[in-house]
Amino acid sequence: MIDTQTFTLALGIGNIAFAVLMAGYTHGGAPSPGLRLWMWARLGMGISQLLGWARPHLGLALAPGLEGVAWILAVSVEVAAYCVFFGFTRWGRLLLPITALSSAVVLAAGSMGATHAELSRMVAGVVALYAATMAWILLRPRRFATRHAAGLRSASPLQLIIGVNDALFAAAVALSALDGLRGNALFGPGMAGEFAYLMGYLLMIVNGFGFLLLCKQKDDAEMERLATTDFLTGLPNRHAFLERAEQARLAAQRQRQPLALMMIDIDHFKQLNDRWGHASGDEALVVFARTARDVLREHETIGRLGGEEFAMILPGAQLDEAVQAAQRLRLAVRAATVITSGPSYTMTVSIGVVLLDPNEDLSGALARADHALYAAKRDGRDRVEIGEPGRRRA
Ligand code: GH3
Ligand code: MG
Ligand code: MG
Repeated sequence: MIDTQTFTLALGIGNIAFAVLMAGYTHGGAPSPGLRLWMWARLGMGISQLLGWARPHLGLALAPGLEGVAWILAVSVEVAAYCVFFGFTRWGRLLLPITALSSAVVLAAGSMGATHAELSRMVAGVVALYAATMAWILLRPRRFATRHAAGLRSASPLQLIIGVNDALFAAAVALSALDGLRGNALFGPGMAGEFAYLMGYLLMIVNGFGFLLLCKQKDDAEMERLATTDFLTGLPNRHAFLERAEQARLAAQRQRQPLALMMIDIDHFKQLNDRWGHASGDEALVVFARTARDVLREHETIGRLGGEEFAMILPGAQLDEAVQAAQRLRLAVRAATVITSGPSYTMTVSIGVVLLDPNEDLSGALARADHALYAAKRDGRDRVEIGEPGRRRA
């Protein structure tokens, strides 16, 4: 038998400690969405638990049902924190009426003379519903994924651990309420309640650290995205592209597969900028990126090396296939329209294509492609040129 009173006190102190820690962490910063709500939820839970401990211990005279309402409010704020974190936008439509209604029912029942055990069972029912909701948010199938949580997979191992914990807590609380309703006929006196307390303890730890880790995971994914993506076009930036190209080169050499490379440069881009302004130039870059993405096959990667210069890798492609792909891209760019501050504009690109030579390093292949690009410019632009064959090392 566990001493539930001491347990409640320990849970209360633990939750308040989490809330204080979070208050310090979120102060002055830009915390992940939902983290501040989650902090208030922890504080509310800690206060509810301290009230639960103080009532019999200190003989605290509370309006009947108030302690239960504090619980309902705290857990509903935690559900709200998860909704905000995972990008649900209309969560208030369901959560607010259920919270208001259940709080009103508990208060009314309290004022009409319901016993503490009866009120606890009502509150347990609502808490179980909310914990089950949190479990669903964390474990929901991919088709219910929200756009907002793009950095996270639908159910990462971390989400799985927290979600299962929530589900177990929901089941434990629902069982204890049911058991109480049947006069402890299901598990014997106190058993289901003790199990619910233990699950509550686990929930404090797992959910406490878990939510923070979820925030960190999401922030890390966002940082990674910002560090590797070109802000204007959304394509991999120079650093990310070169890293992927190097991986593709190593894989191609390991598997003895061909790998083609392209350097692409927009023609007379400076003229466009000078005539119609920098914003029109930016629009042209965005249109180019969109067009290239449409033409690209799944395993091919294009990146922005800088300015109006792009590069592309085509794993598995022989030279003739790469030239065909380059021509497809060139024609698609010619067919795309750029809306400028003046009349609409069509741009052209020049492309240099090479096939990676076995044992050649990436910079050597890129230099050859650049050379071919230069030849395409020299020979009139809006064309595809094949680079000189790579020099084999002895
Ligand atoms: P070429 O046909 O020989 O390639 O000539 P070009 O005018 O395209 O090439 P040049 O290298 O002379 O000019 C490139 C211009 O691209 C110069 C620079 O101001 C502009 N530029 C670089 N980055 C950006 C950008 O992010 N946005 C805009 N609008 N312009 C950019
Ligand atoms: Mg150019
Ligand atoms: Mg250029």
